[in-house]
Amino acid sequence: MNILLKNGFLLTENGLEKLDIQISNSKIKEVSKNISISKEFDKIFDFTNKFIIPGGIDVHTHLNIDVGIKSADDFVSGGLAAIFGGTTTIIDHPGFGPDRCSLDFQINLYKNYAKSCPIDYSFHGVIQHIPSDIREQMLKLKSDGITSFKLYLTYTYLMNDLDILKVFEIAQDLDLTIAVHAENHGIIEFLKNKFKNEKKLSAIYHAKSRPDYSEAEAVQRLLLLAKTANFNRLYFVHISCKKSLDILSKAKKDGQLFFVESCPQYLLLNENKYLEENGNDYILSPPLRKEEDNKAICLALNSGLIDIIATDHCSFSKENKDSGRSDFTKCPNGIPGIEERIPLMFSEFLKGNITAKSFLNSCCLNPAKIFGLFPQKGTLSVNSDADIVILSLENFNFKNPKSQAKYSCFDYIDSLAKVHSVFIRGNIVLDEYKLVENAYTGVFLPRK
Ligand SMILES: [Zn+2]
Repeated sequence: MNILLKNGFLLTENGLEKLDIQISNSKIKEVSKNISISKEFDKIFDFTNKFIIPGGIDVHTHLNIDVGIKSADDFVSGGLAAIFGGTTTIIDHPGFGPDRCSLDFQINLYKNYAKSCPIDYSFHGVIQHIPSDIREQMLKLKSDGITSFKLYLTYTYLMNDLDILKVFEIAQDLDLTIAVHAENHGIIEFLKNKFKNEKKLSAIYHAKSRPDYSEAEAVQRLLLLAKTANFNRLYFVHISCKKSLDILSKAKKDGQLFFVESCPQYLLLNENKYLEENGNDYILSPPLRKEEDNKAICLALNSGLIDIIATDHCSFSKENKDSGRSDFTKCPNGIPGIEERIPLMFSEFLKGNITAKSFLNSCCLNPAKIFGLFPQKGTLSVNSDADIVILSLENFNFKNPKSQAKYSCFDYIDSLAKVHSVFIRGNIVLDEYKLVENAYTGVFLPRK
């Protein structure tokens, strides 16, 4: 199948450029000015006045997660929402498995969950404890294409400093990336219990129980632990505040190597949302911060300190979120975001708040590079997978999202761009805003 995409404006590092794209089967064959229309094309699309970007890669999702309450989206509904949001690849973070389970337990389970996912996918491993053969287990998964693992400094399976050092040392040796949820468990538990005893249970106390310094302390500690183990592939998930960014900025200036992720909610929303009647809808961890933190995230994105914008998509139904309306400690943590990320971030580019380079790097290129999918994914280069997203210039909002959560935390923000069409490996899966049913089934992506 030979396909030609004509007359669109391709987003490059330097801005928008009118370029045509030739797809041959599943790959990009040519990107250049004025490819001539000839008989060799089976189909020609005219994308005059449309924007073209590489398929979005979201490296932080939680589909089909069960935290005692089941998430609203599984890999089918989450994958469909992703398509409408211009994301063609995800790397999912599985939830915790049974106590003492082996490292491949959750991966095998999730491979089964994702069988019908309509977009391409991979998984991060999740480290819950340190068995004596952890090195062998990590090596085995690496040979199966799982090259990143996550550990937590809070929740049920939190790691202590010595365990983290052991993991960092092995990961450095095996050239693996370790993603870490950085929040100080003690501070959070202490404040949560204090507010509970004082009957301060409205949504704003969720934010107050997880202050910015509880994140910053964990960030500082992890940097020192990484330094101790000479580890240079530490990946900070969902960094939310200025205090953390200041510490990360200093460490970077001092020459330390690590990666930083943030999310659209930390750029565009702030803790005033918790004061609204439906404040519980915005409960996630880390919590929304202050306006000055939004500004710091924007600056760090443009300076390149933040490498990746992912979503931490972890959607629950309104009913489930409402179970925490009068008690934030009962509200499942997480918000949807998989379909909002690309339109919102592209709007930020159109508004001049972020550069073309930061958009491409944070949403497409760096996710592929850092997590071992480049050059197959993340770029519109010759021989890369033909994962292509076309956006139209259009004001629209997220009042009727595709996510089974059926609400959006970004519904009051007007997006300036809407996902018009989507190709995955040369297959058109969204055609002029309409889903093409059964056009493609996603595959598991072994990573380098
Ligand atoms: Zn997460």
